[in-house]
Amino acid sequence: MSEMIGAVAQEAMEEVDAVVVGAGFAGLYMLHLLRDKLKKRVAVFETADGVGGTWYWNRYPGARCDIPSHHYSYSFSEELQQEWTWSEKYAAQPEILAYLNFVANKFDLFRDIHFQTAITSAIYDEASAKWTIQTSAGKRILAKFFIPAVGTLSHANIPKFKGHDSFRGDVYFTGHWPKEGVNFKGKRVGIIGTGATAMQAIPLIAEEALHLTVFQRTPNYAAPLMNAPMDPVLDQQAKAMYPELRRQAWDSFAGVPFERLKPSALEVTHNERVAHYEACWNDGGFSLWIGSYQDILFDKRANETAAEFVRGKIRARVKDPAIADMLCPPVGQTYGTKRQPCETNYYETYNRDNVTLVDIKKAPIEEITETGITTTDASYEFDCLIYATGFDAFTGALFKMDIRGRNGQMLKERWSAGPRTLVGLAAHGFPNMFTITGPQSPSVLFNMPLGIEMHCEWIAECIEHMSENGVASIEANEREEDDWIAHVKEVADASLLPEATSWYLGANIPGKPRVFMVYLGGGKHYKDVISTIAHNGYTGFTLDRQQRLTDAPESVPTA
Ligand code: NAP
Repeated sequence: MSEMIGAVAQEAMEEVDAVVVGAGFAGLYMLHLLRDKLKKRVAVFETADGVGGTWYWNRYPGARCDIPSHHYSYSFSEELQQEWTWSEKYAAQPEILAYLNFVANKFDLFRDIHFQTAITSAIYDEASAKWTIQTSAGKRILAKFFIPAVGTLSHANIPKFKGHDSFRGDVYFTGHWPKEGVNFKGKRVGIIGTGATAMQAIPLIAEEALHLTVFQRTPNYAAPLMNAPMDPVLDQQAKAMYPELRRQAWDSFAGVPFERLKPSALEVTHNERVAHYEACWNDGGFSLWIGSYQDILFDKRANETAAEFVRGKIRARVKDPAIADMLCPPVGQTYGTKRQPCETNYYETYNRDNVTLVDIKKAPIEEITETGITTTDASYEFDCLIYATGFDAFTGALFKMDIRGRNGQMLKERWSAGPRTLVGLAAHGFPNMFTITGPQSPSVLFNMPLGIEMHCEWIAECIEHMSENGVASIEANEREEDDWIAHVKEVADASLLPEATSWYLGANIPGKPRVFMVYLGGGKHYKDVISTIAHNGYTGFTLDRQQRLTDAPESVPTA
């Protein structure tokens, strides 16, 4: 009887080929490829009331990309590349959001996006090789493919300080900034955090607020962004050579070319090295971090030369030596092993009379009170309190959904000791589910729009292959998944990055397993790896023509 009811319910359920979760860069392109190229039926679900993903939510003052706009954009349509003109070298959040709306309009994407609707669960049925997806609007949908395009930095980390609900003033979260903006004029403002987000917001809030108090736990090494209005001549040049620009990006490690990169900071004289760092510093953005010397992220001695260079810059820009000391990461805290923030007037902000820096490593926050923050040293009062405390990266947004694969296994449980994927695209036990720029892919250490295109195109090609060959399901094999996890770890361990207490490792979230979640083999190599897997008939995956009968591994992926 219950089977009959199930069958009736199943018949009544709307069915599509693919459900995509999220309408940011990834969800939009996935929809375009599957619907318009492959002619599949696709439903996209998005919790916001508009497209944009991270660029929808992160509307805090100063939010902008730190990869040049010509690179931080889709490459799949030459027409789009020619039609859109960026107004700044590094586009600000409103312009990126306008761009994504332009894309959604141009490719007629809005009609297949269900806004203000979250996905609460996705449950795989092995017999039918389909996912049943439950929405927050009470709808259930059947789909062959389940594609979370939920972003890596989309689930906010809100520390639960003692009394966290007590503050009676206005509370803001940078990752969930009010659409209408915030007027800080005449207000006393407190901000917790000094990561990439806070470093963008602090100089602008300081200009507006009556007083700004910054609560810093760990000082950070930042480099100047060197943003500027778009030079129309440069824009025309870029437009004339987009294919070449993209080729250079694909040939690079991080999806954006740096022309000054040299092998070793230790093989040159002090003066040569400093002159080289100076040139990279003046280029701005990530040039010092990933475009100066190859060994600074691998060799502690090389790293310290870059670290000391940045400390020198901080000391030169901050007038009060005591404040400069607080802002300088100490020797032993490696440079660039946490993601390097890019700043504009950040350090000069501490020369202002209306800005106070509080060291909460020395005197930790004891409590959030009705009027502000009490540390072990003092009490501070505000009208507004801002949390710029980052994200539960990579897995936070996935675990928010109740995802269950074969045999009802929960993704959260399967990944309880850290993410488990094959090439960051698929997970054993979760057939017909694909992640986009997820854990164990180059992800956040690769130019995001290009990385997203790479993944969406791989997924679309795989789905096309399955359609053409009558394949009902595809699943990552456990053995090859193990091999990939070991490979990701091995590559990361050769660098200095796993030593930092960064969100790359989940070290910012209490209780989260400390596992390095980014593949550091470089975008070019990674693209070769996943292309080879596809060209060899999806090595490392099990493809079932009808329905799953066995999960015996078939072959090994090349890493
Ligand atoms: P983040 O780098 O994780 O920084 C969070 C800040 O909050 C850190 O200063 C952290 O201190 C502090 N914090 C967290 N929990 C705390 C607690 N319990 N007590 C006191 N302080 C606490 O987060 P984010 O600044 O939002 O940046 C995250 C990532 O988003 C960036 O690395 C970047 O990839 C991306 N992002 C990109 C752009 C861009 O493209 N332009 C802009 C902004 C952000 P500790 O360091 O001591 O943990």
